[in-house]
Amino acid sequence: MKKNILLIYTGGTIGMIKSHKSDRLLPINFDNLISAIPELSNPEINIENQSITNPIDSSSMSPQVWIEIAKLIKLSYNKYEGFVILHGTDTMAYTASAISFLIQGLNKPIIFTGSQIPIGVRRTDAKENLITSIEIACNSKICDVCIYFEDQLYRGNRTVKVNTEHFEAFKSPNFPTLAKVGVNIKYSPIKKKVDKKSFSVHESLSNDIAIIKLFPGIKISTIEAIIDSAKGIIIESYGAGNAPNSNKIESILRKACKNDKIIINVSQCLQGSAITNKYESSKVFNNSGVVCGKDMTTEAAVTKLMFLMSKDYNDKKIKKQMQKNLRGEISN
Ligand code: ASP
Repeated sequence: MKKNILLIYTGGTIGMIKSHKSDRLLPINFDNLISAIPELSNPEINIENQSITNPIDSSSMSPQVWIEIAKLIKLSYNKYEGFVILHGTDTMAYTASAISFLIQGLNKPIIFTGSQIPIGVRRTDAKENLITSIEIACNSKICDVCIYFEDQLYRGNRTVKVNTEHFEAFKSPNFPTLAKVGVNIKYSPIKKKVDKKSFSVHESLSNDIAIIKLFPGIKISTIEAIIDSAKGIIIESYGAGNAPNSNKIESILRKACKNDKIIINVSQCLQGSAITNKYESSKVFNNSGVVCGKDMTTEAAVTKLMFLMSKDYNDKKIKKQMQKNLRGEISN
């Protein structure tokens, strides 16, 4: 039986080719992308392609486009065994996280991939990334939103972009890779928690969100202004979830939490977790009603909050859900 795979093109370096006239990189026609890789013709796989309305450099990504991608998957869900999404690397970890929350009850693979060198350039990494992503998308045991990049398959909502220079652009600091690719594709035996809910796609996201990254010397007025600017705030704290031992900051946070702000504490560190009550210096959070985001990446915390705040939930439920493992994004 032939596997049907849908390739969704959203833009990014992977779809670029050098213009003969100007030597500049220009987006290529998506149909040419297929013909540029004859290795893709496989009698066992039927690849169809679709593109979002306006393919973009992923640094222009937005929640509207995430919803467009989720709707495309919804419309074609029954027709295909797997999905490969071509995306720029800059915000791929955000998009993969957002799609993981928007889609509930997923029981097919959705594989994001891209490249560091455009498809139309001789040393490109695009071909291997794309060919292997398609092969992985044929594996019906994968029921996750993933990123495949440079020989590694990651859970999408656990990844971060860590490198602009090397082919190995992503890491999953707090969760093991789902597969390693060499001569063979070796899938790890991690058992995904089967999502028993039936397939559905949520079609809205709130962007009433802001991020505060703490640094020594941050002005109190900056913290206040950012908190004032949004309902949901992610604080990137130090180490295991620490902040300056400041009565002023504690009282600002307490007041904000009382005034219906939802504040989440995640760590600036790549690896490890924000923990409540480990150090005296996490007391500004513990005493004020800030929610501990444990080992979630900032990308997962932002998109999860966008998702939960767009639902018909009260604040108490949003805070509870932020600490719960919804799609494999947080360790128990
Ligand atoms: N700026 C590009 C993008 O994210 C980089 C890439 O494709 O890797 O769309």
